[in-house]
Amino acid sequence: MANILVYIELAGDRPLPASLEALGVGRRIATRLGATNYALLPCASRPSYGDDDIITVLSRSGADKVVLVTHPKLAEAPLHASHGGAIATACGALPPTLVLFASTPGARDLAPRLAAQLAGVYMAEPGLALGPDGSLTLTRTTHGGHWTRTLRADDLERPAVLTLAPGRAPLGTGDEESEVVVLSPTAVGEGFDELGREVDAAAPLGHARVVVGGGAGLGAEALGVASDLARAFGGEAGVTLAAARKTSAASAERVIDATERRIAPRLYIACAASGSFSHLGAVGAETVVAINNDAQAPIFEIARYGLVADAREAAAAIRAALEKRD
Ligand SMILES: Cc1cc2nc3c(=O)[nH]c(=O)nc-3n(C[C@H](O)[C@H](O)[C@H](O)COP(=O)(O)OP(=O)(O)OC[C@H]3O[C@@H](n4cnc5c(N)ncnc54)[C@H](O)[C@@H]3O)c2cc1C
Repeated sequence: MANILVYIELAGDRPLPASLEALGVGRRIATRLGATNYALLPCASRPSYGDDDIITVLSRSGADKVVLVTHPKLAEAPLHASHGGAIATACGALPPTLVLFASTPGARDLAPRLAAQLAGVYMAEPGLALGPDGSLTLTRTTHGGHWTRTLRADDLERPAVLTLAPGRAPLGTGDEESEVVVLSPTAVGEGFDELGREVDAAAPLGHARVVVGGGAGLGAEALGVASDLARAFGGEAGVTLAAARKTSAASAERVIDATERRIAPRLYIACAASGSFSHLGAVGAETVVAINNDAQAPIFEIARYGLVADAREAAAAIRAALEKRD
């Protein structure tokens, strides 16, 4: 029977929402292909058991089995140098047909190297189609749309390693109790000398439930207006690339960026952002609310709710209304 391994990336001791989405994708493919969906959980020490523990969360999110690989080195950032060996151990024990990663900066370091190690196929963020005949087709358009690479699961004599864009797939469901397979890593990465580590203050943007984005229409105030409104929602603030260029170096860290900092919140409030193709490529939100003073702005084409208004005034009014409701 085919094995699907879904790499689970942790933020602290909780799985990233994008990894749970990838697990849901694995669940749907596994059900269709009659495969086993493994959640691959590399962590520094054995997770604790209890209500809502990580094993239960992974089981409920569609894992048939949880593969636990523990080693102190796995506390480090998820890169090939620290996590590559543990993932290779799991692939050796459970030869996969598919390995799925949520597309995070760490996964973009790990996935192509793993594909090379497995002599497999690597596809970044392919379209996935499950046919009624049980077939799985992977499609990736490259070179500005001039080439389309298509693979069918029947062609997959070699394992395929895929990264999946966050915010595009529903979560999976499963039983509360998965079998746990414990593996000791036979190798733990090559090791590297860490010269320093900086805290990434904008890291929570990637898994915030509410994100407010400040656009260039707010000029130098983009991050400030977005932060004030985000705070009222208990969310995080980001800016568009054009807004970051109009503001300080600090806001550059908070650019909602299609390559480095994608977001997949439940709610995205775009304040004075036009809705450019590049910006929206970084946003995989369930619900988009747009505030823009130009009724023709493209952002209104994808927004579920739109407000044609001055974004500063609208943000202040929304904050006041939220404060009134406590
Ligand atoms: C290769 C490449 C990659 C890129 N990648 C990214 C990326 O990853 N992320 C990203 O964000 N951008 C990216 N960009 C830039 C992108 O193309 C756009 O230029 C940018 O997203 C536009 O930002 P904006 O919507 O804030 O600004 P604008 O397009 O200038 O829009 C400003 C909007 O604010 C409105 N407005 C003005 N004043 C007010 C007001 N007072 N109240 C309400 N509305 C108001 C205007 O009507 C307008 O719609 C990339 C560009 C290139 C070339």
